[in-house]
Amino acid sequence: MRDFGGIVERSPVRVVRPRSPGEVAAAVHEAASQGLAAVPRGLGHSTYGQSLTSGVCLDMRGLAGVHEVGAGHAVAGAGTTWREVLDATLPHGLAPPVLTDFLDVTVGGTISAAGVGGSSHLHGTQAANVLALDVVVDGEPVTCSPGIRPELFDAVRAGLGGHGVITGATLRLVPVPDRVLCCTIPCRDAADLLRVQREVRADDLSGQVKPAEDGWVFEAKATLHSGGPPPGTAETEELSFLEFADRLRPDVEELVALGEWARPHPWGMVFLPASRAADVIGSTLASMTATDLGLSGVILVKALRVGHVPMLAAPADPVLFSVLRTASPDSAPLGTMLAANRALLTRAETVGGTRYAVDSVPR
Ligand SMILES: Cc1cc2nc3c(=O)[nH]c(=O)nc-3n(C[C@H](O)[C@H](O)[C@H](O)COP(=O)(O)OP(=O)(O)OC[C@H]3O[C@@H](n4cnc5c(N)ncnc54)[C@H](O)[C@@H]3O)c2cc1C
Repeated sequence: MRDFGGIVERSPVRVVRPRSPGEVAAAVHEAASQGLAAVPRGLGHSTYGQSLTSGVCLDMRGLAGVHEVGAGHAVAGAGTTWREVLDATLPHGLAPPVLTDFLDVTVGGTISAAGVGGSSHLHGTQAANVLALDVVVDGEPVTCSPGIRPELFDAVRAGLGGHGVITGATLRLVPVPDRVLCCTIPCRDAADLLRVQREVRADDLSGQVKPAEDGWVFEAKATLHSGGPPPGTAETEELSFLEFADRLRPDVEELVALGEWARPHPWGMVFLPASRAADVIGSTLASMTATDLGLSGVILVKALRVGHVPMLAAPADPVLFSVLRTASPDSAPLGTMLAANRALLTRAETVGGTRYAVDSVPR
């Protein structure tokens, strides 16, 4: 079995698809009685074997579904995708405050990672926007929240499944508009991109670095729920909220058709302290070319707040720098890309940075 990274392979003794917290507990008990690990898997979109095991694979898609949508909350199974959450909440004019850029990952998987989105500069991570969790811990189904077993609530969010299996989540919801305005702001360099992310007021803010003939081009995307384009805007586009939330779908379809989606994805992702981020991003880009990124690779820069998520090791005032490489046929070899991720992490750690644990760094 592989994950989206396509680098690590593991053969589980068995794959179990539990359909209730009780079935999760039974599967965990049975695995433990055989001396096997039971590892939850959402949709396996982490990139270096985080969801893989030689023991028992718990396929959490058996626990998909939105069970309740209230005025400010939704209750969903851990295997529900964020697309399925939106399908249930948008008819009520509501959505989770933070969505991942790609909607086909699971609620349990991203809460276990942290879940960074374009609105994380306002709302923190997805893990910080959970009201309560249903968890199987020590083989027993329990509920936890900031007021009930807070130590467990803090251990499972961004815990990568190591402190319990999340079976369901009560998610915070906020009102969203029917339509949004997406603005593209060209930037000079990494420092300028970070300045825009600090200064521009937008509901969703992200930064991208793209290869160009003579180096790299930098652009910020600011998406507004109301009001006009911010200073520096070069292009605007009006989209429905769903079109915006699902904006990666056409690209993903193209990458699937090209075969790029199935290639190895050695992703380097580090949290940098904002004060040192431009230096690290600049020196990383100076030492790489488009070949080191791969045909469909993407570089993202996102200044964010984490919120109260004790398990997420990140500097204060973090910037997530993501070098999302694809080992395409004419790109640098996979081993070179993995070594570059290791070098990036070392560079990050030297200035007080940390890794985002769904990355691909050989350990
Ligand atoms: C195209 C793409 C776009 C992405 N965009 C973003 C983004 O915008 N923001 C972001 O933060 N991340 C993003 N990611 C990374 C993604 O958040 C992680 O891969 C995350 O792990 C969710 O994927 P998943 O649901 O497939 O979980 P998996 O990869 O299956 O699991 C991730 C980890 O969580 C554990 N886990 C899974 N389910 C549970 C559960 N129910 N209980 C306890 N532990 C569990 C697993 O054991 C594993 O350690 C993206 C990934 C891809 C491939």
